[in-house]
Amino acid sequence: TRLSHMADTTAARGALRTYFGYDAFRPGQEGIVNAILDGRDVLGVMPTGAGKSVCYQIPAMLLPGVTVVVSPLISLMQDQVDALNDAGIPALFVNGTQTPDQQDLVLSMAANGQVKLLYVAPERLETQRFRNFASRTPISMVAVDEAHCVSQWGQDFRSSYLGIGEFIAGLPTRPTVAAFTATATERVRRDIIGILGLMNPQITVTGFDRTNLYFDILKLDTKEKAAWIARYVADHAAESGIVYCATRKETENLAASLNHSVPMLLDPTAAEGRVAVAYHGGMPSEVREQAQRDFVNDRVPVVVATNAFGMGIDKSNVRYVIHHNMPESIEAYYQEAGRAGRDGEASRCTLLWNESDIVTRRRLMDSDYENERLTPEEQEIVRQSKRRLLDGMVGYCRTTECLHDYMTRYFGEETAAHDGMCEGGCANCGRTFETVDATDVARAISMCVHDVNQKVGMGKIVKILRGSKAQDLAVWHPETMPTYGRLKDVPEARVRDVLNQMVADGFLHISEGRMPIVCFGARAAETVQPDFRYEMKRVARRPAGRRGESQAQARM
Ligand code: ADP
Repeated sequence: TRLSHMADTTAARGALRTYFGYDAFRPGQEGIVNAILDGRDVLGVMPTGAGKSVCYQIPAMLLPGVTVVVSPLISLMQDQVDALNDAGIPALFVNGTQTPDQQDLVLSMAANGQVKLLYVAPERLETQRFRNFASRTPISMVAVDEAHCVSQWGQDFRSSYLGIGEFIAGLPTRPTVAAFTATATERVRRDIIGILGLMNPQITVTGFDRTNLYFDILKLDTKEKAAWIARYVADHAAESGIVYCATRKETENLAASLNHSVPMLLDPTAAEGRVAVAYHGGMPSEVREQAQRDFVNDRVPVVVATNAFGMGIDKSNVRYVIHHNMPESIEAYYQEAGRAGRDGEASRCTLLWNESDIVTRRRLMDSDYENERLTPEEQEIVRQSKRRLLDGMVGYCRTTECLHDYMTRYFGEETAAHDGMCEGGCANCGRTFETVDATDVARAISMCVHDVNQKVGMGKIVKILRGSKAQDLAVWHPETMPTYGRLKDVPEARVRDVLNQMVADGFLHISEGRMPIVCFGARAAETVQPDFRYEMKRVARRPAGRRGESQAQARM
């Protein structure tokens, strides 16, 4: 097997060069390719643009038989197939835009071995025509793109994805199954493995760290945000930037305010000028498209947008992305902030936030979770998972740890330990904030989770640590526990804050389900090390007068 492994590796690199013209694999790609060539199922978790396609296209070229690629968007199939054909790879698609005769032609070519990659939408797998084809054609691999569409707990559930597992199970010979997604949620990943029926898959998470991006977090009062953004735009007048707002109205107000204040900051005698355009889903499409063209073609440096902006927009020289409000999840933040620096040049992502953003997000969440298709119990799970996503976002705002590490850890990618400044840089490694030591509280929490054998929720942990005599604790005999009352002098809110932050930073983990339980996270062992230190950002205390520059600079 070692020899065949080396042969695989050489063949895979050769194919990468011959067909795609690339000299080296990106991180993660080669491991996935080799696993597939060894006949092992894989789950590849990579962000959009990281290069998932070659992970199945190269094995498809090297394996005998045909690879069926399940892809959700018929509109993208033509482009993918054209690109492969240009590279000399025999690929075709079969879908409902073709006549039955055309479909038959494609399928018979595939059955005769004239096609290496056959692209289909999931609905196609259920048709009799396709089943007939599949029963008489050797299929070596089924590659499932956007695999998170199988999960009801993801953003883009597609019921037609539920049939993929059954299709695979019905094949005369089981092919290798390769699934790809950019989704971080544990629940969704579990669904992908379960619903697609992946067998002992190799799970690879990679490509999330964008080392050319500098991440920055600023806690600012709502009324200070516009002035800060105007100053930033004026100081970077030669650069392109995106400012994301939570609402349509905010985009229009902020764009107008920038057009008023930025020209004056640049030249006190100047009149209003066009510095920024607004962009949101409620604008007439001609106006919106014009705004997009003006920004993409550098006729206006700044677009102030809702999250409607970005899909399919290809502008590589965006030098900064500023968030005027906290997004709903790290996934959303990563995607929006990640539109900076596509050309690989150093770029900056700044998140402005304050506590009222959390309140707003919670309110939006409680109002929009209602969905008639779901039972009350399912609604509760959806609401819980949204709350969990928001907790991850709040954790990012409050963490004192490296922001690059925080984000890659969130997506499940292993990060290499580093002391001091991270690659690319971030405000936390720059240590531009004040901290308070929380080591003792963190250690006590961790010991308490051990005392209760990882069997209770956050409320009870807090009560035990604070020495509560509450009735519902009695069955646990808390007075026998070493940590009972250990934090009796620490305010409850503080214990909760530290516990929540420990979850966000990966020391603890809160289980999913109706009764969430606090358990140990991947980094729990660090809390018992003698040199363990845990810090929290100092909570902003309202200054008496106007904020000085130094205070506004402090990332709190
Ligand atoms: P994804 O499917 O993950 O969104 P793609 O497969 O479309 O990403 O790849 C994104 C881009 O990266 C494509 O232009 C692709 O050709 C390029 N790419 C992929 N792998 C490599 C590599 N090893 N070296 C250089 N470029 C690559």
